[in-house]
Amino acid sequence: MDLINLEEEETRKIKAVLVGAPEADISELKGLVDTLGYEVARSVILLRMEQNPVYGFGKGKAEEIAALSKELEADIIIFDFEISPRKQRNWEKLAKIPVIDRQEVILRIFAQRAQTKEAVLQVQLAQLEYARPRLAHSYGDMARQRGGNFGSKGSGETQLELDIRKIREKIQQLKKELEQVVRDRQTQRKRRERVPLPTCALAGYTNAGKSSLLNALTGADVFVEDKLFATLDPTTRKLQLKSSIKTSGDEKGFAANILLTDTVGFISNLPHSLVNAFKSTLEEAQRANLILLVLDASDEKAEEQYNTVVKVLEEIGAENTPRIIVLNKIDKLTGNPAQLAKLSSTFPDSVKISAKTHEGFQQLSQRICDELLGKEIDCVIPMEKQALLNEARKTGIITEENWLDDGIHIKIKGGELKKNPRLSALLSPFSENITEEKEGQGGFKKKFGSDW
Ligand code: GDP
Ligand code: MG
Repeated sequence: MDLINLEEEETRKIKAVLVGAPEADISELKGLVDTLGYEVARSVILLRMEQNPVYGFGKGKAEEIAALSKELEADIIIFDFEISPRKQRNWEKLAKIPVIDRQEVILRIFAQRAQTKEAVLQVQLAQLEYARPRLAHSYGDMARQRGGNFGSKGSGETQLELDIRKIREKIQQLKKELEQVVRDRQTQRKRRERVPLPTCALAGYTNAGKSSLLNALTGADVFVEDKLFATLDPTTRKLQLKSSIKTSGDEKGFAANILLTDTVGFISNLPHSLVNAFKSTLEEAQRANLILLVLDASDEKAEEQYNTVVKVLEEIGAENTPRIIVLNKIDKLTGNPAQLAKLSSTFPDSVKISAKTHEGFQQLSQRICDELLGKEIDCVIPMEKQALLNEARKTGIITEENWLDDGIHIKIKGGELKKNPRLSALLSPFSENITEEKEGQGGFKKKFGSDW
């Protein structure tokens, strides 16, 4: 049931002519088109936009672009700006090839990449809503051509013959299915929340390296690709935060677990119909205890992209969630110290890393630890309650451990973990321990009760 997602046979790449508004930066559209697997035959930047009801701009220019497309043997013309269904139809009559806009490019990318049931449904819904006015207008020859022009397996034709009533019914049905999927996901989340691990969400512009980072950090098998939108669905993995500690004798490593969630990449000017699909995956970011805002440090537009991401985080109500700015891909900046210096001064509190070389992972892990697990708490565990030490190791991070006569002196991080009732029983006496716990074992026992 995909009306505008054309299943091309991979014989040759589809050639596209791109058209940008005056003074537009067309590089993002190029990236999107590349992600879709199309080849950019030529980019045309318009000198001016006239209010022309037929083509959106002057007839002469329109004919010129149509002729250029023919000469280059282009298969499709793609506008960087939105075109109305009527103009689209006029364009297709003129150019005799499909003419789409940026929104449809994004829809097609989503359609290619949707993996979970929810994402597939969201994309289908967005496609139908986008296609509805267009189908209503473009029934007939052009509709057929739009559907079947890429040597598709004839699928376009029959699908396009669905009437508008059927589309409306399909939209209703999809909405129902989606509601069910969303309910299922909430159930899953509740189940996950029963394990009270702190959560950390990766957020950032598309292609910043979020999935690579998740992979590199967790060894998780997440879809990594040098393309935009390689991930559409949130993926959650358990991450071990390792911390080396000094004990009275040797140096040991301990680990605490957190949940790390990948999110779909953010992008400016999302098609309206896709905003919902986006927001549902971003719920994960909204619920996180900490957001890792990942930026591609090698991208000249890193700052702009940061602004886009911050705006979206505000829109989903995550503006107050603690965040760490992660400057990724610093391995690509060895020859460009100026860019790194510039970003460092713009984001003085950022952590610089490379998901590729794992540079900076130690610092990142440390920062996540500090933010999620809170500051260190000192406490003393009585010798006969050594079992508590294991409990503490499993749930928090012990940064220092000294076995002395009056008990085991430890420094532990575990602020967020207070949500765990068993752990808070552990932690609250610990934290009070610093000020009140003077009398050693006796006081400790009093606080913990005799079960310990
Ligand atoms: P996402 O859209 O944010 O999930 O980005 P991906 O993880 O899919 O990465 C996008 C591209 O950037 C891929 O080609 C990665 O291999 C590449 N990449 C990610 N991190 C690094 C890095 O630290 N260094 C370099 N050189 N490339 C990276
Ligand atoms: Mg990704």
